[in-house]
Amino acid sequence: MPVYEFDLFFHPILFLSDSRFSSFCIESFIVYNFEKWVYYWQVNGLTKYIFVTGGVLSGLGKGLVTCSVGKMLEVRGYHVTAIKCDPYLNVDAGTMNPYIHGEVFVLEDGYEADMDLGTYERFLGGEFTGLNNVTSGQVYQTVVRKEREGGYLGRCVQIIPHVTDEIKRRIRLAAAKSRADVVLVECGGTVGDIEGLPFLEAFRQMRNEEKRGDTLLVHVTLVPVLEAVGEPKTKPTQHSVKELRAIGLQPDVIAARIEKGRLDKASRAKIAQYCSVEERAVFSSINVPTLYELPLELERQGMGDVVCEYLGLRDCKPDWSGWPEMVDRFKKPKDVVKIAMCGKYAELADCYVSVNEALRHAAAKAGCRVQIDWIETELFEEDLKRTGVLEGYDGVLVPGGFGQRGAEGKIIAINYCRTHDKPFLGICYGFQLATVEFARNVAGLEGAASTECVPETPHPVIDLLPEQKGLKEMGGTMRLGSNPVVLEGGSLPHRLYGSTEIRERHRHRWEVNPEYWDRLEKAGAVFPGWSKEKKLKELLWLPDRYFFLGTQFHPEFKSRPWAPSPPYYGFVKAAYDRKLRKPEPEF
Ligand code: GLN
Repeated sequence: MPVYEFDLFFHPILFLSDSRFSSFCIESFIVYNFEKWVYYWQVNGLTKYIFVTGGVLSGLGKGLVTCSVGKMLEVRGYHVTAIKCDPYLNVDAGTMNPYIHGEVFVLEDGYEADMDLGTYERFLGGEFTGLNNVTSGQVYQTVVRKEREGGYLGRCVQIIPHVTDEIKRRIRLAAAKSRADVVLVECGGTVGDIEGLPFLEAFRQMRNEEKRGDTLLVHVTLVPVLEAVGEPKTKPTQHSVKELRAIGLQPDVIAARIEKGRLDKASRAKIAQYCSVEERAVFSSINVPTLYELPLELERQGMGDVVCEYLGLRDCKPDWSGWPEMVDRFKKPKDVVKIAMCGKYAELADCYVSVNEALRHAAAKAGCRVQIDWIETELFEEDLKRTGVLEGYDGVLVPGGFGQRGAEGKIIAINYCRTHDKPFLGICYGFQLATVEFARNVAGLEGAASTECVPETPHPVIDLLPEQKGLKEMGGTMRLGSNPVVLEGGSLPHRLYGSTEIRERHRHRWEVNPEYWDRLEKAGAVFPGWSKEKKLKELLWLPDRYFFLGTQFHPEFKSRPWAPSPPYYGFVKAAYDRKLRKPEPEF
């Protein structure tokens, strides 16, 4: 604990004279105790840290290697957590454009995280919180706030030690709160990035401060195989390790991303020699048919045993029971189900990772594989006949989204599904626009719309949540995170979830306007789920359709390969059963 906080706490005059100081002192008392506890935790050797860095270039699957290492420890009986360090200056990923930066992944506590946290949750058993994501934005915000409060008592505030101390404090806080045996700490970006330096420096300091043998550094690099030469080239790996060493970090384990085959013995020996790691600690991170196979692949190469040995963890036998069978279900599907994702082309790529994964999890359980095609809904706005393309699909999904552009096209796609009885799943914006479509074309509310698209609509069936009105700040201000939802007994969602009380994660500002509930319900819309206080409609279901369901929440965030999300499973199963011409879906 820094000395100044101690001084302040025991300084009665300051404590009594200034309310600002008194609250600061109370806070530091809590910090003091907590840090003492963290210290106890550490000196007793209860926490081990595995730092993961990336070299050469981004997009090498560093997150997947992190998850694989975590999984290998988990199947050996260790409690594992993972922390993602993001060197960007945003406080969280909530304000970042997902069409550029990839999906915003919402955690139980409502924290809007980098999509890597989604990968962590899909591999590792636990649920994560905002503490599992440390960004430069958070770190600098805290340091600058403390400086303004006088917390540094006249000292010059610097990257080292103040920023690095704050990074270490956050890592240790997350570690202690999770009570994990092993904490994986992944640094985003590539070694050599200016933004990442304070994080790597913090890793270096931690490696020095923690007990020897309690930390490990896994470096993920690229080993290209040049077409002309046909052999793996280790030079980029050598260079990136050199760069790591220049900032005082020496890797213990190297996971080399290789696109063709695995590293041969000679390349492993060369990497070992040049990078000062053991040959048996050089692994090949290869292309796998399904992501969930990577932990098994690295286990086969012996990574789990090497990591445990290096960290001095008792050699427990891994218990992979269930995992290979699950992977097999992903790899050996009997049939294909074609799903049309209706949205804007701009939304492609990484921004619906969780939706894609949830569909894949559901398909594996249903015994098929999903082929996901993107359909540009703006084309429907130009020419209605273009909706004919949807005929070739077994199901249509309208995912979450924001803004007016493309919304009318999404409504046209939803109309096609309702009138052609095509299995449909609407997520968040998709649910809201399905309500709009129903209002316009079934309930006869001409010109009905969401005020997000048409603020002056005569029938605002979707309107801003009361608490959203008048909000100025954009970051972290939506209705976020896990909330309880009550399901109507006997309804489709009840059947899918097998329970009338569920919890799902949210991320929205608009809702079904209570003034229209009656008119919509009288016209045949069923809202078989509501927020616990009965204030908000959470689901839309058309019982006379083969499968037509919309959810205000985002069930994809809780889908796991071993436990697919119920609405996604229902949707994919219905699409598949429809394809097999079954009279009704068999859940
Ligand atoms: N734009 C809508 C809202 O804010 C839907 C958001 C979403 O799909 N995540 O309510």
